This record gives sequence, C-alpha cells and structure tokens, in this order.
Amino acid sequence: MKNMFKMSAVLLVIICGVLACSSDESSILPSSNEGGDTGVIVNGGDADISVLSSYFNTANTTFVINDDNIVITTTSEPDHKSAYYPTNHALYETYTDAGFVQNPNSIVEQDITMTIARYPVVASTHTATDLGSIGIAVNSVSIYNQYAGPDNQALTNEIASFDQGSGHPQAQGGYHYHLESVWLTQQNGNEGLVGILLDGFPVYGTHENGVQITNADLDVYHGHTSVTADFPSGIYHYHVTAEAPYINGDGYYGTAGILTN
Ligand SMILES: [Zn+2]
Ligand SMILES: [Zn+2]
Repeated sequence: MKNMFKMSAVLLVIICGVLACSSDESSILPSSNEGGDTGVIVNGGDADISVLSSYFNTANTTFVINDDNIVITTTSEPDHKSAYYPTNHALYETYTDAGFVQNPNSIVEQDITMTIARYPVVASTHTATDLGSIGIAVNSVSIYNQYAGPDNQALTNEIASFDQGSGHPQAQGGYHYHLESVWLTQQNGNEGLVGILLDGFPVYGTHENGVQITNADLDVYHGHTSVTADFPSGIYHYHVTAEAPYINGDGYYGTAGILTN
C-alpha cells in the first residue's frame, strides 16, 4: 500500500506537469491530509502505528507487528474496579453514584482479535461503524460507537448504567466504553492515548496542547490531523469529546480492518 501510494503520488506529479495543474497541493491531496500550520502532510501511509506497541502489551492484550498489519488481541477485562465484576473478583466494587442504574450483566473474559493496517491511510469510501467493538482502549477494554442499538438508538438511557470506570458489559459480558473513561483520563492524563480504532487510527483524550477539544475542532469522523506525542510527524487521530458522538462520528476515516470475537 505504501509503495502504491508513492507511485500514485509520482503519477500525479507527472500528470500535473503535463496538464499544468495548480501548484496548490490541496488540489491533489485530500484536505484532511494537510497538517495546517505545522506544515505536516501525512496519512499517505507515512505513519507507522507499531510505535504504539508498548501501550498494549498488558496482562489482557497482545500486540503483534507484521509487515503491513498489526494484530491486537484482548480479553476486554478492565484494569479498574467495577460493579460489574463477579462479586468474588479482586476488582469487584459496588458503585454508589446516585444516578447509577446497574444492568443485569456481568463481566466475562472476551476473545477479541483486531487485525488493522500498520500504515493507515484515508479510505476512498468511508464505512459506518458497526455495533460491537470498533476499537480497543489501552487498558484492553473494547470501544463501542455512540449508539445503544440498531437504527442509531441514542445512548441516553444507557449512560446511567456506566460504572465507576465509565463502561458497562453487554449481554455476553463484553465490557466496553462508549465515551470518555474517567479511569483512563485519571491514569493517563487528558491528552493521553486512549486506544486505536479498527481503521488503525489512534484515539486521544479530551484535550490537546492544554485546550479542551470540542466537536467543532473535528471533522465528521470525529478526528483531525496534527502531531501527537507518539507521532511527531503528525497523524490523523480521533479525540474523545464530552458531547456526542464522543469518540467516532460518521464512520471510519480509514479502511476498517478485520475484527473477530
Ligand atoms: Zn454499551
Ligand atoms: Zn488532535
């Protein structure tokens, strides 16, 4: 893919030379590939997400680097206390928040495998996220989208069932986050890496350079391109925001990989 992109770029330059295209690069590159004031132009497959490996080598995850893809496995068991762990589990703890309405499910170890692009690029056609896992957080927990169920049901009524870590299990015991995990923010800071979505692009916290990110700062997929602590040359990335759609917007920015569970 990387070589194909480079060949395409070379072809574009040749074609532009023949046709005397505008020298404005925005006419030949997707606007989202531009890094703005930083002058960074990425997402032509230049960013290698294998640099995120150390975040995912935990008790509950594995992160395998191949030539062109990354395979992440997870049990999706949170590393924080939860009212949803079985009462005999070391991390079981009641949650006494006044608004908490516990659902009837209990956390069960999952067997999730996500095979994603090592050098993610913008997709020519953007696909919607599915219900179920759309990514994996750095503490192994699955990331779900902004909907409670089919036909884009709003999360509104489910939010009361989020525990002390801001997640909950579904009927098969799969624990997941739909929005900011207060636990992750406390552990890793509000600008820290939150996880990776199925298209290979990373998700960062609620803030950047000390400023809270809002939906207005992001595109319809809920991301933008800039440098991050892990990618000094820049990369497209999603952000967690306080308001819906929280993590992902209108589908994947890149091409979704393969998820099995
Ligand atoms: Zn849910
Ligand atoms: Zn950002």
